[in-house]
Amino acid sequence: VTSHELVGQRLAEEAARMASLGWMRGTAGNLSEVLVHNPLRLVITASGIDKGELTSRDVVEVDATGAPVADSMHRPSAEAGLHCRIALLTGAGAIVHTHPVEAVVASRRFPDGVVVDNLEMLKGIGRAASGERVTIPVIANSQDMVELGDRLEAAWTTAVPAVIVADHGLYAWGSDLRQARHHTEIVQWLLNFTVLSNS
Ligand SMILES: [Zn+2]
Repeated sequence: VTSHELVGQRLAEEAARMASLGWMRGTAGNLSEVLVHNPLRLVITASGIDKGELTSRDVVEVDATGAPVADSMHRPSAEAGLHCRIALLTGAGAIVHTHPVEAVVASRRFPDGVVVDNLEMLKGIGRAASGERVTIPVIANSQDMVELGDRLEAAWTTAVPAVIVADHGLYAWGSDLRQARHHTEIVQWLLNFTVLSNS
């Protein structure tokens, strides 16, 4: 069993878990894990497959530009280039992209960033539970992954392991897949809270 297949197994299990939580409606959303940081090799879920039904082979290994490194029966996610950009920029070991409705609502209400403070849940992304204002960045959507990557590079901060793409969804990352999942859960909670308490 290659490391590629082991990663595929982990990504398939995690995708099924997230699909069951309603985070990956239709075939939306994608997950990736870094195989090697330098030069970057990343394994990402394949395009167009229900995330509740992935097998360990429904993943594609890509290079730093998001292009497949070998012939594959699948196409990588259209958003592979942005996953690579995030890995290069932040040093993350895994990246999770979801389409939670609260991220889309928050992006419309707070296009300059979602400010949160004095919440116990902030500890889940390494911030203080009180006395600290944290802004979750919001960037404009684009179908061009280079343009989207440039916007993300300009907006991200080390204070928050996540960026909202307006009218689209959420990218969150961590040192490994489990931490990326936890960061996704925490940021979704913070966005849900913000949307509910401002309605
Ligand atoms: Zn998306």
